[in-house]
Amino acid sequence: MADAAACVHIQSITTLKHPARHVCEECLKIGARWVHLRTCQTCGVTLCCDSSPNRHASHHARAIHHPVIISAEPGERWLYCYPDDSFAEY
Ligand SMILES: [Zn+2]
Ligand SMILES: [Zn+2]
Ligand SMILES: [Zn+2]
Repeated sequence: MADAAACVHIQSITTLKHPARHVCEECLKIGARWVHLRTCQTCGVTLCCDSSPNRHASHHARAIHHPVIISAEPGERWLYCYPDDSFAEY
């Protein structure tokens, strides 16, 4: 699915996890706002991007080693791996 330049994490993904709801599940708990949403491809949680004040997606990736997210924004079709800083469109 992903191109050959993508890292091993992205290449190992065969089925995409799409957001169940368009909300950051962590921001929702604390009443915070987000800018863009990302969905973890290991556990399926949807969290906010690095342009958001709380950066829940990257904190999640680092804290529990879930490397790959997709954009949960409508019309955006890309994956990103945090540890490898690797990007791929699908
Ligand atoms: Zn990777
Ligand atoms: Zn958030
Ligand atoms: Zn996860």
